[in-house]
Amino acid sequence: MEKIKNLYNDLLEIYGDVGKWWPGTPEEIIITSVLTQNTNWKNVEKALENIYSFSNNSKNLLFNLHKLPKNKLSELIKPAGFYNIKAERLKNLLDFLSRYKFKIESLKSIDTYHLRNQLLKIKGIGKETADSILLYALDKPIFVVDAYTKRIIKRIYNINEKEYDKVQEIFHNAYPESTELFQKLHGLIVEHAKALCRKKPLCDQCPINSKCNYNL
Ligand code: SF4
Repeated sequence: MEKIKNLYNDLLEIYGDVGKWWPGTPEEIIITSVLTQNTNWKNVEKALENIYSFSNNSKNLLFNLHKLPKNKLSELIKPAGFYNIKAERLKNLLDFLSRYKFKIESLKSIDTYHLRNQLLKIKGIGKETADSILLYALDKPIFVVDAYTKRIIKRIYNINEKEYDKVQEIFHNAYPESTELFQKLHGLIVEHAKALCRKKPLCDQCPINSKCNYNL
């Protein structure tokens, strides 16, 4: 468990500084956190392009989307797949955000775990999406867990933990509470899972194979 503290530096050495990693404005990140489920980023970008070409005033992106009927929203986000479900989820999320007049600063001023609980009450918003919004759109220091995170800690450290909150706790205990670090670390994990630690891992090409339980 202690060794997990090395993960950030090990991956940083391979992939370099990934910066904030999740691209876009806070408003875009809120939208893409829903669109990105079960699809690739290219499709998310296409859906976002449709949204922008429809919405003339990009400054009020969330407000404009909230005004759209659900079938129109489904049509715009079609490239992201599961468009009816995602339109429903976006609508529910936008309904919630309308209480704060879609103001990012108002959302940022809310206590992290209070806001997390509120987000998790929205139908269709799970822990990974809620935490992605908190970490990347609102710059709250909370670690995002995904299937890649679980795969990598199982392989490298033999930590076979499936429960979201427990995996998150492992990272929260191992690392200082830092938004920047959590943003980068999640990004590095995704990059590693896509480049080398794939479903079928490319261990012979992996620079950390001498430290990895799976390979050894
Ligand atoms: S050695 Fe293989 S299993 Fe281990 S981290 Fe690298 S790619 Fe993944």
